[in-house]
Amino acid sequence: MTEPDEHIEPDEQSADSDHHPARDKPAFACPHCGVVAQQKWAELVGRSAMGGPGGPVESGTTAGGHFLNLWKSSHCAVCQRPALWRAEVMVYPSASLGDRPHPDMPPEVRELYVEAASVAAVSLRAGAALARATVEKLIKQLDSGASSKDGLDIRIARLHDRVSPDLAQILNVVRFTGNKVLHGEDQPSELVVMALDDHTGPAVIGALLAAANDLVDELISRPKERKALFDKLSDGVKQDIAQKQARAQEEQS
Ligand SMILES: [Zn+2]
Repeated sequence: MTEPDEHIEPDEQSADSDHHPARDKPAFACPHCGVVAQQKWAELVGRSAMGGPGGPVESGTTAGGHFLNLWKSSHCAVCQRPALWRAEVMVYPSASLGDRPHPDMPPEVRELYVEAASVAAVSLRAGAALARATVEKLIKQLDSGASSKDGLDIRIARLHDRVSPDLAQILNVVRFTGNKVLHGEDQPSELVVMALDDHTGPAVIGALLAAANDLVDELISRPKERKALFDKLSDGVKQDIAQKQARAQEEQS
């Protein structure tokens, strides 16, 4: 059973370029038909088979916010098909968080990424731990020069100058999240509390997964594109560039 909640007027359609589905967003890329379409939201209401008034399927109070009803549905204006949501997480048709893995992500990392994104819909703790494991595995692959004994702290410090400042910052968040998230400490850090909260957890896990995609983009895809461009140049131009580089280095030293 659904009851109308809020109707989206056409002019409310978000003008931003982020089409990723999110709870209460007026428009996003439909998980069924793929079109960026307006979404009509409704609260899911449970009603006894004996009749009578319906009520929230599941109420929830969280540290980050209060949901009178955790369950909602969004209906695509184009294909009319529904998606079902529990708190901030879409559980049908695609029970997963975050964007798709970057096409250049190495296969064994991609496997972890997809698992983290899917399990997060069911368990934020498992999702956060796996998202961190995804980033850790990727970092190991991207920095073959590190010693096998180096912990994640050292490995992240080694990458610091090779990535953009924004990404370096989020990598530090990764450090603080995952290793504590599984330990179930009596007094978990603020970040761990956020990662395990129904309201804020999906955003934290989404940010960890986005960091994995950004790492692939900055350290695999862009260097590859630059190399492909360089390879297209004629030998003459390449020699010319090499000579200019050598001269610039001589002047510097
Ligand atoms: Zn659709």
